[in-house]
Amino acid sequence: MPQDRAPELPADAAGWPIRGRPAPPPPSLGPIDGFRGELVVDEAGRRPFGEASGILSLLPRAVAVPRDAADVAALLRWATAERIPLVPRGAGTGMPGGNVGSGVSVDLVTHFRAPPVVDPERRAARVEPGITLAGLNAAAAPHGLHFPVDPSSGEVCTLGGMIANDSGGAHTVRFGSTRAWVESIDCVLADGTAVTAAAGDGAHARHPRLAEIRAPVDAALAAVRDPVLAAWPRVRKNSSGYALRDYLRTADAIDLLVGSEGTLALTTSATVRLAPIPARRGLALLEFTDLAAAGAAVERILALRPSTCEMIDRTFIDLVRSGGEDPGYPLREGLEAILFVEMEGDSDDEVAARLAEVEREMGGVADRVSLALDSDQQERFWHVRHAASPLIAKLAGGRVSMQFIEDGVVPVARLADYIRLLRRVLAAHGLPAVIFGHAGGANLHVNPLVDVAKPGWRAEVEAIVYEVAEGVAALGGTMAGEHGDGRLRAPLIDIIWSPETVACFRAVKEAFDPAGILNPGVILPLPGQRPLDAIRY
Ligand SMILES: Cc1cc2nc3c(=O)[nH]c(=O)nc-3n(C[C@H](O)[C@H](O)[C@H](O)COP(=O)(O)OP(=O)(O)OC[C@H]3O[C@@H](n4cnc5c(N)ncnc54)[C@H](O)[C@@H]3O)c2cc1C
Repeated sequence: MPQDRAPELPADAAGWPIRGRPAPPPPSLGPIDGFRGELVVDEAGRRPFGEASGILSLLPRAVAVPRDAADVAALLRWATAERIPLVPRGAGTGMPGGNVGSGVSVDLVTHFRAPPVVDPERRAARVEPGITLAGLNAAAAPHGLHFPVDPSSGEVCTLGGMIANDSGGAHTVRFGSTRAWVESIDCVLADGTAVTAAAGDGAHARHPRLAEIRAPVDAALAAVRDPVLAAWPRVRKNSSGYALRDYLRTADAIDLLVGSEGTLALTTSATVRLAPIPARRGLALLEFTDLAAAGAAVERILALRPSTCEMIDRTFIDLVRSGGEDPGYPLREGLEAILFVEMEGDSDDEVAARLAEVEREMGGVADRVSLALDSDQQERFWHVRHAASPLIAKLAGGRVSMQFIEDGVVPVARLADYIRLLRRVLAAHGLPAVIFGHAGGANLHVNPLVDVAKPGWRAEVEAIVYEVAEGVAALGGTMAGEHGDGRLRAPLIDIIWSPETVACFRAVKEAFDPAGILNPGVILPLPGQRPLDAIRY
């Protein structure tokens, strides 16, 4: 397998895993033919690229700062020839460690953030990968447009990272994930070939190299198409594995590239579609004292086409209640869950009518329904949802809020079962945790509070990862609804996906990256890789 071949570096130089060992010295990298960018090897310059938002950290042996797509191509030719792993990097807000690695980190921000070019007629924008979501939206807003996928990291995360992770957000329940809004990608393949892949290309790849790459992938898929599709998780969103189901439907290479977490190619620019900024929004808060009722309510709400359907569970509500601050909404005792349902419309009347529909539908289902039409009141309601992050930090005390099961997703009908599973596993290990997330996609974020002073905490955390993965697989879900697999979840791939599907994932990787230099250990595990190998605590 190509992943097995990538780290032909001496173990120390590869620095995998680095836990408990001093950082390896950067070995001499030799000249990179045709590369005009900067190569940072001093430790102070490398260190920020070894850290990311999630729980993993790995110091790269160097940081390459390419100036343009031609530089990226030179870097890839060199890396393939020298068998040096490359780790593409955006803003570093990705959670499961796809953005850190012991190879050469590739800074795709510094020279890749030219102002977006918006085409209001076509409702599209040309972007470089280092542009932030906020930057794109600022350029689109004067035209009444925006990129409707809204990760809450949008002020800092880049379009390159969003495309690589197929990111989602609160509005994904209505607008889908990033994939739905990417029209075309310009990228550089592992051998240094620059190609364009666009939605609608189908079998007619624009570049002969893409056609060559697709041939073995198509052959592998042809043999197992039916079992792969039959075993595909019936979830509303997913960013684990490669998107074989989309690819089988469209035959577009872009469907393999979006969500590939920097393991198949490096994106150097893209064209994305934009949507009109909604005229009016309104919010309904639904309280539940029964978890099963909350789970069942989500399916009924989805039929009303909400623009968001978010959830906080008992753990979250108790945390906010115990925080002693006014959350902006009276949180009663005994609540199992609150749903936040947002409706959009062209006028206040339309939004009011749509909220009234939610209220009618939830009669006798939710324990209480509160509606907010004016924006101040909506903000007060949303404050409840946003109050947790600072509170988690405050209440954690000596514990560390650690995101290692932070992105599981299950079929919507199994949402309540998934919450019960999380509560059961966490309680069995005596870990307090806060659970919240995108109920409309049955995609939950979980912040367990880990006592890192307790001996054996690492083994316990790893046990939880595997127990939750087994449970999620049994519920028909995956461990990544929108954050990707990264290094953290690559070792879980055989638990979540069928053997035929994993074999096809490997065929995709082998076809695009035969030398295994692109983010090895991400999506597909390296031999012996474990979820917490590079944990930073
Ligand atoms: C506070 C917070 C809130 C968040 N909220 C959300 C949310 O609501 N929804 C959500 O989906 N995610 C969320 N995330 C996760 C994260 O912000 C997203 O995954 C984001 O899209 C990552 O973008 P980035 O620029 O930081 O990429 P990085 O973290 O730098 O990279 C992410 C992945 O993309 C690859 N990559 C980056 N650039 C390129 C490129 N040009 N070519 C090829 N591969 C590339 C990297 O190798 C890596 O595998 C959140 C994170 C934080 C810290």
